[in-house]
Amino acid sequence: MRAVIKIGTSTLTYLNGNLNVRAFENLCKVIADLKNAGNEVIVVSSGAIALGKSKLGLTERPSDIPSKQAAAAVGQSELMCFYDRIFSGYHHTVAQVLITAEDLENEQRKTNFANTLERLLSLGALPVINENDTVATAEISVSDNDTLSALVAVNVKADILVLLSDIDGLYSADPHSDKSARLISVVETVTPEIEKLAGGSVSGVGTGGMATKIHAAKICTAAGCDMVIANGAKPENLYSAINRGNAGTLFKGKNI
Ligand code: GLU
Repeated sequence: MRAVIKIGTSTLTYLNGNLNVRAFENLCKVIADLKNAGNEVIVVSSGAIALGKSKLGLTERPSDIPSKQAAAAVGQSELMCFYDRIFSGYHHTVAQVLITAEDLENEQRKTNFANTLERLLSLGALPVINENDTVATAEISVSDNDTLSALVAVNVKADILVLLSDIDGLYSADPHSDKSARLISVVETVTPEIEKLAGGSVSGVGTGGMATKIHAAKICTAAGCDMVIANGAKPENLYSAINRGNAGTLFKGKNI
């Protein structure tokens, strides 16, 4: 099984940008175990800007581009330091891969990226991908890691993409304001009605929200890759997610 696991900022950090050590360590443990069981895993991790903000002692998430880029430069090395430290304890080797949208658009660069990922996986390494935020201004102002992880999943022909977030999945209404909202466990096709459910929701610390997750689902499922939205606060969800069990919302990839 080849799985891409996207970890959102809200899963890794507290609202103040500090690392949520318990959540982070629990998550890494499950990912290490999935690798031990023989799965090929690629992580797409957010969190660089939030960790950089915290390390630089900034009181608020930066809003101007140069400050975001500076925070990302500081936070990305901090992020990899944490991943390296925890995964080393389970004898797994992490590999930092920073890309921009162009790496997934230009045919030659796309092939280079896919070849590098194949080689890393064949060497048993754990690729940890993020947008190269320090140079990618377009990413910081318009794009997000939900979309990035979907493009990665399609490019490496993954079987499944799991988006870990601070919400259990896609709901029939906004669960924060509507008590009758129920979790949708399977989406066979991303219809305009499903897209409408996403609204424009954005969590406090990352750049994503449900709209970007539905966008990611469209990219993935069109290429035949399944996608799951699950709550990153419960890392055991990953076991059922990759077995297409009950973990959140499963978007079924098209038969192509
Ligand atoms: N690349 C950004 C970061 O590492 C996060 C982007 C996102 O949350 O979608 O901070």
